[in-house]
This record gives sequence, C-alpha cells and structure tokens, in this order.
Amino acid sequence: MPTIFEKIIAGEIPATIVHQDDRVTAFRDISPQAPVHVLIVPNKPIPTVNDVGEEDERMLGHLFIVARDIAKKEGIAENGFRLIINCNKHGGQVVYHLHMHLVGGQALGPMLSGGTHG
Ligand code: 5GP
Repeated sequence: MPTIFEKIIAGEIPATIVHQDDRVTAFRDISPQAPVHVLIVPNKPIPTVNDVGEEDERMLGHLFIVARDIAKKEGIAENGFRLIINCNKHGGQVVYHLHMHLVGGQALGPMLSGGTHG
C-alpha cells in the first residue's frame, strides 16, 4: 500500500509543494506546529531511518541541502529552526515514509516535552 506521501510525490493528492527534484519532495505540513512547518521527503519510499541503506547516503545529504535552502527562502535561517526525524512508535512516527520536519518561525522551546529524564 502506498503511503499518503507517495501519493503527494506522484501528484495524486494535493499538497503545497515548496520544492521537488529527482530525489526529494518538500511540502507544507497539513497540521503545522509552527509558522513554518515543511516536510522534506525522499522520493524513494524508505519507511524509517532503520531502513536507510549505504546507497541512500548521497540522497540524504541532498535532503539536508534542500532543508538549508528552504530555511533560507522561508526567512528563518538566521534566527534558527529545528529539523526532526521521528522513527517508529517511541519516536512518534505516524507516516511510514521517511521524512524530515523543518520547523521554525518562532522560538521553539525545549527540545522534548513530556520526558521523564530531565
Ligand atoms: P510523523 O509523526 O510521521 O513524523 O509526521 C507525519 C506528519 O505528516 C504530521 O506532522 C502530519 O501533520 C503530516 N501529514 C499527515 N498527513 C498529511 C497529508 O495528507 N498532507 C500533508 N501535507 N501532511 C500530512
């Protein structure tokens, strides 16, 4: 079964695309947690970080370059932002197509909430 992100990448369901090339697609999160909340997604459907392979190294480096460029375009590079990749149940992953959250546009506060280790 293709994930919702595969359908967005293929243009089968709508999303606000901010970048697309032969390796990655970036679009605005449907439920933004900050003034800027963009998801940067490999076009290749890798389910989780656990499934990343050596052959993905260049594409994942490119994902960071795209994140850098989007942060600059969105005007949040200078003040700063956060990149998040959730993995599996404890990481809070909901969509099983690897993706990086780019969030910013305001002070984001502590890195984790609800933890029991300080
Ligand atoms: P995860 O918890 O898996 O790291 O995050 C999944 C993210 O995908 C969530 O922030 C959620 O709001 C976003 N999302 C889920 N479905 C859709 C959708 O159909 N369109 C868009 N643009 N974002 C989605």
